[in-house]
Amino acid sequence: MKIILLGAPGAGKGTQAKKLAEKLRLVHISTGDILRENVKNKTSLGAEARAYMEKGALVPDALVERMLEARFDKSDTPAGFILDGYPRTIAQARTLEGMLAARQMEVDFVFDLQASEAVIIQRLTGRRVCSQCNANYHVTNMPPRVAGICDKCGSSLYQRVDDNEETVKKRLQVYKQEVASLIDYYAQKQKLYSVSADQDASVVLDQIVDLVTSRK
Ligand code: AMP
Repeated sequence: MKIILLGAPGAGKGTQAKKLAEKLRLVHISTGDILRENVKNKTSLGAEARAYMEKGALVPDALVERMLEARFDKSDTPAGFILDGYPRTIAQARTLEGMLAARQMEVDFVFDLQASEAVIIQRLTGRRVCSQCNANYHVTNMPPRVAGICDKCGSSLYQRVDDNEETVKKRLQVYKQEVASLIDYYAQKQKLYSVSADQDASVVLDQIVDLVTSRK
């Protein structure tokens, strides 16, 4: 099964993708996570991407494309994946279609997680991420058992540099510019399903799983 999660930053794509990957035994491919890993490891790709990410702007298509091609070439993708953070534009949606077709794959479901701006800002400015395993927490909505420490692996938590209010607003603006056309694109292909993401994460997850299992 090949799934795309669309939604503004903070709509809960990462949280849902991780839970869905576990439940449906799919690999979770997050372009944001792969980019941050490259920045952390100081690769040449990370060095090129970093300034864009810190401003909340999109990293140039060619860079993300190269990175994603390498990910799709790994042996675990044909069995099924959840794509989180890609595509973000119509150009990327077309590129994705080509990349998948070249590997005899196609997307089955596109879920649009719809969240209100107030919820998004509250979620993102309070988000904390594990420096080792990328698990997500929230200072009030989902705090770790010990402040600043990951429940799962014991590593320290950090706040993403792009999770401050100013950059969050810029990221939302970038998202809104592109999303309508992306939604049309997948609606026309009859692959789009909208889910309200202001609800509790467990409710959102159940709705997605129900849709996937009822239409398989
Ligand atoms: P995310 O973790 O999905 O919020 O992504 C964090 C940042 O990584 C974004 O604000 C962009 O700078 C960059 N990024 C992630 N995915 C893409 C993409 N598909 N195209 C361009 N830039 C991306």
